[in-house]
Amino acid sequence: MNAIEELKKEFSEITRLNHIRSLLGWDEQVNLPKGSFGGRAEQNALMSKIIHERLISDKIGKLIKEAEKLKDLNLIDNATLREAKRDYEQEVKLPAELVEEISKTGSLGYIKWVEARKKNDFSIFQPLLEKMIGLQIQVAEKLDTHPDPYSTLIDLYEPGATYDWIANIFNKSKQNLNSIIKKLENSSDKPDFSILTQKWDKNKQWDFSIEIIKGLNYDFNKGRQDKSVHPFTTSLSSSDTRFTTRIDDNFFPTCIFGSIHECGHALYEMGLMEEIHDSVLASGCSMGVHESQSRMWENMVGRSMEFWKFWYPKLKKNFPNNLKDKSVKDFYRSINTVQPSLIRVEADEVTYGMHIILRFELERDIIEGNVQVSELPELWNEKMENLLGITPPTNSDGVLQDIHWSWGNFGYFPTYFLGNLYGAQFYKTALKQHPTLPEEYEKGNFSNLLAFLRENIHQYGRIYQAKDLIKRVTGEDLNPDYFIEYLEKKFYPIYRI
Ligand code: ZN
Repeated sequence: MNAIEELKKEFSEITRLNHIRSLLGWDEQVNLPKGSFGGRAEQNALMSKIIHERLISDKIGKLIKEAEKLKDLNLIDNATLREAKRDYEQEVKLPAELVEEISKTGSLGYIKWVEARKKNDFSIFQPLLEKMIGLQIQVAEKLDTHPDPYSTLIDLYEPGATYDWIANIFNKSKQNLNSIIKKLENSSDKPDFSILTQKWDKNKQWDFSIEIIKGLNYDFNKGRQDKSVHPFTTSLSSSDTRFTTRIDDNFFPTCIFGSIHECGHALYEMGLMEEIHDSVLASGCSMGVHESQSRMWENMVGRSMEFWKFWYPKLKKNFPNNLKDKSVKDFYRSINTVQPSLIRVEADEVTYGMHIILRFELERDIIEGNVQVSELPELWNEKMENLLGITPPTNSDGVLQDIHWSWGNFGYFPTYFLGNLYGAQFYKTALKQHPTLPEEYEKGNFSNLLAFLRENIHQYGRIYQAKDLIKRVTGEDLNPDYFIEYLEKKFYPIYRI
């Protein structure tokens, strides 16, 4: 066995250990009795320790060095070496004490964040957030993959991306989004949003979500859908990808579009080529590309007229009272209502980007030390006013709304908006190659879009990095104009502009 083969063997075991840790996590969020969390926390910590020790072993360090001497590696071997080295170096450069400190601060930070949000009192969370930011700056210093610390943190989630690259893309998008939002706001013919906020039977919503994801070719032989407080998707092996949803009986989109979204993530992980199953390459290539898949299915497909031409008659049959006197067009318009709102996770396709741009700009200033944590609530509100024209009445609806900072996930937010941008560009290419896709949706056929995604994106896992993948699939670098073009084409007719 040469060094690459040995490396593959080592990393397939590490990947399996990671899957086992994910199983503990899945169970924790889906099934675990309330009184059992303490024992589970110990198990999680133990698994993390075992995985860390496996990753930083001398054996892996030596194998990487030996593999680097090998010449003429094929595509998979080359990517295996690159990604193994990336994972190894990330782990080796971070001292165990720092990792442990982050984990402890994250647990405590989460508790304080929940309390602060409940009491609408930022000062309860502030000391923990300050500590976490200090720790994240240490992470950036230790990893030192980019000259500026924020880019180093971004690279953890979006390999190859930098602050400057994203800032350039976001600044361009910001102006365009602004002008679309203004135009839609000035329309005198707005959709009827109240269709969605009636009472929707929970069990029927659940059944309908299952029917839809089956229609999207999610394979229930290799996965399942469950309920959890925070929806998520997780792979427990390369032939077991599960996801969760939540149901709100006063708001239709939560369950159905949440399910389609997570299903999009799951289809990605389920589409890996067999050669890379359970290997270091067996996951999405970046958080942004992952999000492109979920947002494409959720919004570009799931919120399209063609999609509902097929599903609406079935929906109406299940909810005759809710949809009495409502046409498919009324429904389509209501699920595409655009409204500047306070909460990111409830934001529509058009205003969503502004929520991310706000966090991206604040994160950069915090990590660079340009602003103090104590200034955050005020800066948040100022930016909301600038970007969306609304000011949060409370900090719970403002700076305290997201969980991410309590866990120390700085650099993660920008991938959410990058996902929309990647998604629009991929989708444009899919439509160019298969112009009849929307007509197929009207007949309930979604398999040709999935086939396109499998062939061009899913099967490769981490083989290609995001910047190479987008170029390979679409012929050019990431270009935010496609997303803007998509929004204008879709939303101006909805708002009768
Ligand atoms: Zn997602």
